Amino acid sequence: MNLSEKDQLYNWHPYTQHKTTDLLPAIVKGEGALLWDENGKEYIDAIASWWVNPYGHSNKIIAEAIYKQLTTLEHVLFGGFTHNKAVELSEKLLSILPSNQKKIFFSDNGSTAVEVALKTALQYNYNKGIKKTKIIAFEDAFHGDTFGAMASSGITFFTEAFKGSLLEVVRIPVPTEGNETNSLKALQDLLETGDFAAFIFEPLCQGAAGMVMYSPEILDQMIALCQQNNVFAIADEVMTGFGKTGKTFATDYLVNKPDMICLSKALTGGTIPMAVTTFTQEIFDGFYNDDVNKALFHGHTFTANPTGCAAALASISLMESQEMQDNISRIHAKHLAFETKIKQHPKVKTTRVLGVIFALEIKSENQESYYGTMRNKLYHFFIENGIILRPVGNIVYILPPYVILDTQLEKVYTVVEQAIEMI
Ligand SMILES: *Cc1c(COP(=O)(O)O)cnc(C)c1O
Repeated sequence: MNLSEKDQLYNWHPYTQHKTTDLLPAIVKGEGALLWDENGKEYIDAIASWWVNPYGHSNKIIAEAIYKQLTTLEHVLFGGFTHNKAVELSEKLLSILPSNQKKIFFSDNGSTAVEVALKTALQYNYNKGIKKTKIIAFEDAFHGDTFGAMASSGITFFTEAFKGSLLEVVRIPVPTEGNETNSLKALQDLLETGDFAAFIFEPLCQGAAGMVMYSPEILDQMIALCQQNNVFAIADEVMTGFGKTGKTFATDYLVNKPDMICLSKALTGGTIPMAVTTFTQEIFDGFYNDDVNKALFHGHTFTANPTGCAAALASISLMESQEMQDNISRIHAKHLAFETKIKQHPKVKTTRVLGVIFALEIKSENQESYYGTMRNKLYHFFIENGIILRPVGNIVYILPPYVILDTQLEKVYTVVEQAIEMI
């Protein structure tokens, strides 16, 4: 048996209906934007392995930082102790985050970062004896797969089975171009009820929904409205963080800064699972009390793992390097040129670009479902052609590692054009 066959015997994969899924490619090596499977087939990773890997696979600089940390202090519990890498990373993050962010809470992945934000919003009010138990989120949002994160997500077939077991979340329309007034009005109506502790959103770009984009101006208005009504604004930057939108954080496009920010994915450059939720002083102070019961009783065994912190520090310095900043601008310019070329195509409905994110929507007679026929046909066409892209329904998006070469990126565009012809 080869690896793919053994995998089929032993493993249960995420978001996978195994009955209708073939053997999966077994990847044995990665370098830069490239991956190779056990048969030697080469793939261009045009989605940075679910958006985690901007600096390239098997990055030597991050690997060295990890090795050094592993042979100095691999882990120590963060309950009752601290360590130099957590302090260094928090200091670094606070220096690049919006200046209203003052405290860092560590966890393990995007979903836990969101859970921490939601629990904090709810308990902040509980600690003050205020009854605010509901959350506001956008339609088609994705905030993760644990219960609170799932409740805040709007992709219904993901969450259908758990209705009735979830936190109360009310959804408002996404303020895409033309829908700003509707969305703002819906938010205003909810805020007036006084029932809500927080509004959670993916700033400027909803990743899992298919890179659905909206403007910083409308988000600024929405955050201002929340803050006037004492409702916390939670920016879920798990996907958008660390340069993907062309600025370090999507919230850097805003005048009004959110009260909490969730970060994960690219935090460690795709090496070690880690996340942070960041807070204003006001939120932290809502838990700061002589009464121990007012503390935030949340933690994970690997909270602030030193090796993860070392990987994050190395990743952030890579992001800040001139080389990566130039890469981000280069990819953005190439996306814009490709957009100009492709947007007039008779089969293309819409296109959009933000930073290194490119998305196009293919015209379709039917409402294409998330894992529907068109999506599957496109997905397999890309894989056959050695390109890793995961279309969402009829939306094809590219979010490459910053280190992707021009020739590799051009190959991705060419295969996308061929896919549009093929479909
Ligand atoms: C991926 C993602 C999450 C969930 O992160 P996991 O690490 O998969 O739990 C949450 N929010 C957003 C915006 C994401 O893109």
